[in-house]
Parts: sequence; structure tokens; C-alpha cells
Amino acid sequence: MTALRARAMVLAAPGARLREVVREFAAPAAAEVLIRVHACAVCRTDLHLQDGDLPQARYPVVPGHQAVGEIVAAGPAAVLPVGTWVGAAWLAWTCERCEFCRSGRENLCDHAEFHGCQRDGGFATHLLADSRWCLPMERALGTVTATPLLCAGLIGYRSLCMTGDARTIGIYGFGSAAHLVTQVALHQGRRVFAFTTPGDTAARDFAREVGACWAGGSDMPSPEPLDAALLFAPVGALVPQALAAVKKGGTVVCGGIHMSDIPAFPYARLWGERVLRSVANLTRRDGTEFMAVAAGAWVQAQVTRYPLTRANDALDDLRSGAINGTAVLDCG
Ligand SMILES: [Zn+2]
Ligand SMILES: [Zn+2]
Repeated sequence: MTALRARAMVLAAPGARLREVVREFAAPAAAEVLIRVHACAVCRTDLHLQDGDLPQARYPVVPGHQAVGEIVAAGPAAVLPVGTWVGAAWLAWTCERCEFCRSGRENLCDHAEFHGCQRDGGFATHLLADSRWCLPMERALGTVTATPLLCAGLIGYRSLCMTGDARTIGIYGFGSAAHLVTQVALHQGRRVFAFTTPGDTAARDFAREVGACWAGGSDMPSPEPLDAALLFAPVGALVPQALAAVKKGGTVVCGGIHMSDIPAFPYARLWGERVLRSVANLTRRDGTEFMAVAAGAWVQAQVTRYPLTRANDALDDLRSGAINGTAVLDCG
């Protein structure tokens, strides 16, 4: 393969705007593959990357960890052949040796590297990835609307699994992850209560449209005690509120990678065997499992499309809350 010229949107440093650059890729080595990116969804984590909230990030970096595309070149040890449609999600590489990797918890690997964080991600026409951490996707799934499944969908699903068999679920922050996980929850016969930013009637309407049985401001008490709550908004002040909304024995799951400080709250909110926990990253097994669940539940992502070169606008619109569902960059 001769060197390939590709375009990428690069974040030079925290606080910077993305800048378009042309870069060259040599032939993939070892287990690497070169992916021609079809589309890549935008995630709140990309905003945290831009804000310098992620201590593990390496700059300059190409953001993007919800990329779908086709393998166009493969290294000699690649486990997937040229022509395979794959997803490149957050988890890019793990050590496979630490105690977490050896116990089926590679999402907690001490040495893990992530796309669009330590390794260049999918805000680009091409992406170099380790094939062992690529998620093969049905060609039919390899579309623009599948991209949000790779992080928003997966994190939402992992968070939902942490609630066990909870029948009533409160969701705080109704964006990309929430609209996907709601569809899975409804398919499983659960009921969803959406708590949105006070005054944000568009988010409330969106939640009802997706199937929430109730939608109100996050400053409102829950209309009934809930079995569990999921927090996707990066607002620590919502944690005591969510604890107040769940029944004894209920679980509150924080799904975000970064959150503002959690204010002090009376122990009575946690008492009664309530559980407060976070969800961190994903495993490859989560990916395989969730793709099957998403196909079975007919999960449909609502997307707003932007050309790759307008990645800055997509980030700005996500930041200002101007997007219902998920922003996706057309990269091909
Ligand atoms: Zn993400
Ligand atoms: Zn490890």
C-alpha cells in the first residue's frame, strides 16, 4: 500500500477549536487495520476532552470514539480482513495482563487506551485501529444511525444492566444515551421517567416521544418512588436528588466519565440499602452483547448530521443543548 493521504479534525490542546489537517498513513503494522471512516457520532466526552477534563488524554488528538467504517488495509497479524465493516468504540487497547483484564473487567484496565483520547479517533476520513478491539458490524448496521450505539448506546446499556430487574427507571439528562437506553428498557417491559433540565420543554417532549411515561424537570420530585435511576447529565447535584427518588434497595448509576462535585447530603438518602455506583468504559463483550440487543429491540437513533469539516459546530450545538438525539459527522 502506498502512503494514503487522509483528512482529520485535530484538537491541538485543551480549550482549542478543532483544525482540519491532512495526514499520511503508512501500511498498518502487526494487528492494526486502517479503517475508511463512514461516519462518527459526537459524545459529551468529546466536550470533556476539549475542556481538558480528562487527565489521561494526550494532545494533539483526533477526537471521536463512535466511528463506523470499512477496513481498507490490514496488518499481517490483523484478526479482521479487508472489507469488514467495523465499529471503533472508546476502548482501543487493553494490556490483557492486569488483574482487571484477567477477570473479565478490561473496562477497568490500568493501562487501557481509548480512541479519541490517547489514540486518534474517528473525526477523520481514516482511522488506524487495533483490529482486536474493533467491533465487527453487519453491513446493514454499518450506517450513520448505528454510530451512536457505539458509546451512547453501549454506556446506556451497561448502566441499565447495573439496575438488575428494576421495573421503573428514572433517567436524569435526556440526550443521546438516554434516548437509546429508553428504547431498550421499554422493549424489556420497564417504565421510564425522564428528568430534564428545568425549563427545557424540547427535551421533555423528546423524552415522551421516545416513550417515557413521565417527563419533568430534574428539580421536580418523582411522581412515584422508582426502582433505579440512571444519571447521564454531568451534574453532581443530581446525585442526592436521584437517591431521594429511588426506593429502599434501589440503585443510582452514574454513566458519565466526568461530573461536577457531588454536594453533601444526609445519610438517610443512602440508608435503606440504596446503592450509588458508576459505570466506567466498556468491554468487548458489552459490544457484542449490546449489538444483538439493539437489533432485537429495533433501537433507532435520532441523529443530526454534519459534514466532517463542521465538527466544531457539532460540538458547539451539543454543548448548548441544541440537539435532540445525537450529532453525527459524515466522514466518507
Ligand atoms: Zn462517548
Ligand atoms: Zn489490563
